[in-house]
Amino acid sequence: MYIILLGAPGAGKGTQAVMLAEKKKLVQVASGDLFRKALQQETELGIKAKAYMEKGQLVPDEITIQMVLERLAEPDCKNGAILDGFPRNLEQAKALDKAMEQKSRAIDKVIYIKVSEGELIKRLGGRWICRKCQAPYHEVDSPPKVAGKCDRCGGELYQRADDNPTTVKNRLKVYFEETSPLIEYYMEAGKLLEINGQGSPTEINQRILAALH
Ligand code: AMP
Repeated sequence: MYIILLGAPGAGKGTQAVMLAEKKKLVQVASGDLFRKALQQETELGIKAKAYMEKGQLVPDEITIQMVLERLAEPDCKNGAILDGFPRNLEQAKALDKAMEQKSRAIDKVIYIKVSEGELIKRLGGRWICRKCQAPYHEVDSPPKVAGKCDRCGGELYQRADDNPTTVKNRLKVYFEETSPLIEYYMEAGKLLEINGQGSPTEINQRILAALH
């Protein structure tokens, strides 16, 4: 099963991708994580992506599409994957459909996690992420048991550089202009499942599982 998680930054895609990947025994393919890893390792890809990520802009399609399609071609994605953060515009969605078709595969479902803009800004403000397993936490809504430490793997928690107020504003603008048209694209394809993204991660996960069944 190939599932896309669609939603604004802060909608809870990462949290739900981790939970869904565990439940469905599928790998999580998060384009943002792939870029951050490349950046950390100072690869050519990471250096190219850096300036765009810092400003909250989309990394150019030719770089992003190639990176994600290469990841999807790896053996662990043969039977399915949870796509988180990709596609983010129509160009990427069409390239993904084409690549899947060439392999006689298709996107099965697109889960659109809907959250109000006020809630998104609040969530991104207090977000902490595990450096090791990428599990996300929130200072107020879902704090870790021990401050600064991941409940799941004990890894160190950090705040993303692009979660600062100016970049967050730009990331939301980019989402509404470039990514939100994908809601209609996948609705027309009969693949969209709209999920209310307000509530606890467990509640939202249950809504997603119910909608998938
Ligand atoms: P994310 O972790 O999904 O919020 O992504 C962090 C940053 O990585 C974004 O603000 C973009 O600069 C870049 N990025 C991630 N996914 C994509 C994508 N599908 N297309 C273009 N840029 C992306």
